[in-house]
Amino acid sequence: MRVANLYKTQTKPSLSFEFFPPRDENAEEGFYTVLDELSTLNPDYMSMTFGAGGSTREGSYQAVKKMIEEKKLPTVAYLAGFGLAPHEITEILDRYKDLGVETIFIIRGDEPRNSDFKPHPESFKYASDILKFVSGKYDFDLGCAGYPEGHINAPSLEKDIEYLKLKQDNGAQYVIAQYFYDNEFFYSYIDRCRAAGITIPIIPGIMPIYTVKLTKMLCKLCGSTIPADLQARLDAFPEKPDPNEVAALGVDVAFEQCLDLLTHGVDGLHFYTMDRSPSVTKIIQKLREKGSLT
Ligand SMILES: Cc1cc2nc3c(=O)[nH]c(=O)nc-3n(C[C@H](O)[C@H](O)[C@H](O)COP(=O)(O)OP(=O)(O)OC[C@H]3O[C@@H](n4cnc5c(N)ncnc54)[C@H](O)[C@@H]3O)c2cc1C
Repeated sequence: MRVANLYKTQTKPSLSFEFFPPRDENAEEGFYTVLDELSTLNPDYMSMTFGAGGSTREGSYQAVKKMIEEKKLPTVAYLAGFGLAPHEITEILDRYKDLGVETIFIIRGDEPRNSDFKPHPESFKYASDILKFVSGKYDFDLGCAGYPEGHINAPSLEKDIEYLKLKQDNGAQYVIAQYFYDNEFFYSYIDRCRAAGITIPIIPGIMPIYTVKLTKMLCKLCGSTIPADLQARLDAFPEKPDPNEVAALGVDVAFEQCLDLLTHGVDGLHFYTMDRSPSVTKIIQKLREKGSLT
């Protein structure tokens, strides 16, 4: 699956689902059930994340292998290069190439927490450096991350967009955006990126609200704003809410958000599935029933 090519030739918004590898053998059965359920929605591709510092190196590889060889799914593999030596990156990518992976999503990743991980002295500092290294050596289609509200450690959104331009210059052919709950951030980001000379497709990332706690925790971690009206709806839940009620709110919010994005002509929708199927399934079904997504 060549994702850059997909975005070049598509005649309708693309649909993609992101997963992380099952934590251990016990989680595998549930993971593959979710994968099977979501594959019935016929996404254009699935993608598999990669734990920074190589923490899920083998797990991510095994999952990608099964997705490609057994499940025959169009699959994108991620590489988070934080702390890895150039030769380790090459080893990882050679294995993916041998599996038939054609698109790699390159991110820097972050220093693993609660570990004594020591970055290799020759490791790359930024995703743009990794992209330069990889694009000079391989024939993969390459993607990278973008942040409509600015990366949490960026000095400013303007600077962050400059660094995104560098990722494009160093070989990135498409961008998956960090999730946001106010579409205005995304629309204004697109305008600013285009003004800065970024011409590659920028696909919005959609994170349905799965639980109140997870939403608040993740938004704090990655700097995504929870708009006041949504915050009020989340705050209205009791301390131990009915999970089905929260998930139903999540489906409604994401459905409305996706409708608006599709109306604005986005190139695709990329769902952070968190390895769960019910919410994403409902959102896609609703969009299809409405005729907004084919
Ligand atoms: C769609 C998506 C998927 C993700 N998947 C994963 C995953 O699988 N595994 C994982 O570990 N993490 C993942 N992440 C999280 C990501 O690794 C973190 O957000 C990380 O902190 C930044 O990665 P990056 O590739 O954007 O880094 P970079 O582009 O290197 O940016 C990191 C920081 O450095 C700044 N910067 C960039 N270039 C320069 C420069 N030349 N000079 C000075 N400052 C610079 C940026 O403004 C930013 O603040 C994902 C994020 C997204 C949006």
